[in-house]
Amino acid sequence: MNCPKCNGLMMYEKFMDMAETSSFYFYGWRCVFCGNVVDSIIMANRLNAGRQNNEVKRRRLKKAG
Ligand SMILES: [Zn+2]
Repeated sequence: MNCPKCNGLMMYEKFMDMAETSSFYFYGWRCVFCGNVVDSIIMANRLNAGRQNNEVKRRRLKKAG
């Protein structure tokens, strides 16, 4: 697998994603040249985290209002 940014060599590595309340490990591809990380789990996790934060804020606003 080559890096989509610089077409360099990518290594399959273990990453740790740390959140405020939990942390978990996942595997992804990291470019040894530019450090670009490619993993669909990263994008999915970021999207889910953003949605959860928005939902909590909305609920708090409704209760407060
Ligand atoms: Zn790269």
